Amino acid sequence: MLDILQIPVLNDNYIYMLHDSVSLETAVIDPALEQPVLDVLAEKGWQLSFILNTHHHWDHVGANLALKQQTGCKIIAAASDRERIPGIDVGVKQGDVFSLGQHQAQVLVTPGHTSGHVVYYFAGDQALFCGDTLFVMGCGRLFEGTPGQMYKSLQTLKALPPSTRVYCTHEYTLANAEFALSVEPDNSDLQQKFLAVAELRAINKPTVPSTIAEEIATNPFFRVDSINIQKELGLVGAAADVVFAALRQRKDSF
Ligand code: FE
Ligand code: ZN
Repeated sequence: MLDILQIPVLNDNYIYMLHDSVSLETAVIDPALEQPVLDVLAEKGWQLSFILNTHHHWDHVGANLALKQQTGCKIIAAASDRERIPGIDVGVKQGDVFSLGQHQAQVLVTPGHTSGHVVYYFAGDQALFCGDTLFVMGCGRLFEGTPGQMYKSLQTLKALPPSTRVYCTHEYTLANAEFALSVEPDNSDLQQKFLAVAELRAINKPTVPSTIAEEIATNPFFRVDSINIQKELGLVGAAADVVFAALRQRKDSF
């Protein structure tokens, strides 16, 4: 079985720790800070085998070198970001496979937030670690990519099995839900989800993971074909990537 632990750090980041109880291998995804990771490793009696990074931003790679130095772990990240991600041992590309014991993750390249962004999809475990590409009811800001690239990246994730759990790196859900409601106020799935996540956040509980099915029902960036969203943007019948670009722009100033 694959254990997945969620470690909240900084204001709104999550570090994920994966442990395979057969091989005893352990990986962390996007370690912003080393101490919270070392604390959990000590508490569990686990040894860190791998770091997986989704992209080069400091709040995703901040603890790479410290953890590598203290644990001897190997660092897996996009080959194209070798220059920007500290301590890379294995550079990965589209379609590469990462194994933690018997658990396999496919690497999918999802440019948009950054040009080298990758996500890790564990098909057998129905788990997607998507960094800052897809958020619960939102998506990453376009720092380096074009709207067209991000739209395509999100379409790739939208096509994964609906039961796939979406483990994103940030707890941005409540703000995303407010924006989503502003562009699609009559979506009843969204209304319900808003209430559910508001309740969770009121008692400081995580709203992550969600699932691909929930995102298809509620995430405006997965719903650019919604006639109500198109109406709201004054773009009825426009091409999907055009609607996406307008939606992302509106979110930037929301
Ligand atoms: Fe980022
Ligand atoms: Zn981030």
